[in-house]
Amino acid sequence: MSGKPSFRWVKMLIFLTILIGLAGYSYNKVSSNSQEPPQPKKDGGQSGLGVESMVSDSKQERYAIHYPVFRIKEIDEQIKDYVNQELASFKEDNAKAQAQHEDGPFELNIKYKVVYYTKDAASVVLNQYIEAGGVSGTTSVKTFNADLKQKKLLSLQDLFEENSDFLNRISSIAYQELKNRNPSADTALLKEGTSPQEEHFSRFALLENEVEFYFEKKQTGLEQSVKIKKEWVKDILKDQYQDMKKSRLQAKREQEPVPLPKQAKINPDEKVIALTFDDGPNPATTNKILNALQKHEGHATFFVLGSRAQYYPETIKRMLKEGNEVGNHSWDHPLLTRLSNEKAYQEINDTQEMIEKISGHQPAHLRPPYGGINDSVRSLSNLKVSLWDVDPEDWKYRNKQKIVNHVMSHAGDGKIVLMHDIYATSAEAAEEIIKKLKAKGYQLVTVSQLEEVKKQRGY
Ligand code: ZN
Repeated sequence: MSGKPSFRWVKMLIFLTILIGLAGYSYNKVSSNSQEPPQPKKDGGQSGLGVESMVSDSKQERYAIHYPVFRIKEIDEQIKDYVNQELASFKEDNAKAQAQHEDGPFELNIKYKVVYYTKDAASVVLNQYIEAGGVSGTTSVKTFNADLKQKKLLSLQDLFEENSDFLNRISSIAYQELKNRNPSADTALLKEGTSPQEEHFSRFALLENEVEFYFEKKQTGLEQSVKIKKEWVKDILKDQYQDMKKSRLQAKREQEPVPLPKQAKINPDEKVIALTFDDGPNPATTNKILNALQKHEGHATFFVLGSRAQYYPETIKRMLKEGNEVGNHSWDHPLLTRLSNEKAYQEINDTQEMIEKISGHQPAHLRPPYGGINDSVRSLSNLKVSLWDVDPEDWKYRNKQKIVNHVMSHAGDGKIVLMHDIYATSAEAAEEIIKKLKAKGYQLVTVSQLEEVKKQRGY
């Protein structure tokens, strides 16, 4: 009896040590705004809205998290805290499962949609997919509603007059609506899941004319949302949330196609190498790489995420204007092979459309996140799938010299190098790699140019 508890303590300590080690080891944070030098031309629209991403390309622990930044500290920190907590608990479950020798795939994917946005208010819906520790994939929803003027997040209660019976009202509307829509639904579960408790309605989005409520499968048996017209709760909804302006996000702008430069002349008899950069764009670091390419008359391919490209159109345009190639790395970095064909198609196609909208040009190459590809994903588009030969694991090491050494010692004629333009260390390494490869007589080409050279060489 006396030996057992202390043994448990030792086990717990070891486990904690591993956890802390793991957390420190693979915590990948990309800051889109902290290192940005002051630039006259702001990339990210007129608004303050931006995006941050945390991506791990590890096959043992895949995650891709994207969340919005409003550049209002009080709000951004709460959203950041939430995603950090989700990531920490994913890592914890993952470590437990791996300690029990469970095999993956382990994946966490958090994506978001800004469903309403003006200078006064914003509503964000986060969709989370998690697969860890033997649990088959589950989805969940989290919402954030912000009063941007008062710089605070809103709870449901904040929307309604004090002492009003808002929960009863919403509860009965939601129950009726879901029941009408799904006559064969489990009535008892539905009734319980929509009973008038604040936690049942904590996932909501404040829109121009409605408040939308999101329900999870485990709560109501249905993964559906219900929009409640503001008119229906007019008597209890606070004035400032009655008349909301039209969201800026509804305005779409058309773009002139970006002029492409004359193709650089490439000698197929001389060494070529294709540098590729994934997971961006991220203006501060991506521009550093673009500067180096420009300086040394080289080109590269940027496999961008549609979800990030939408915020940084100027960076995408610059890539193309300077003769680089823009490739498709999906919308928000899920493992495409686990998605339904419809969802995987959407990931690829939405990104194609976003880049087309920004630049007037569509990518010709797809780099699937985590390199995960199969015939069915291949068949979804006519994009060529582009993987890589040299992988310095720059996302993991975050060490400039280590990255430079790995790439330089593995570089070779006709090779494709994988790096990530969202990290400062990778951008610094790239500056040096570009200079060194050039000095060694390499032509720095895009993936399409590399294919062309290989064709000319006859293989
Ligand atoms: Zn990636």
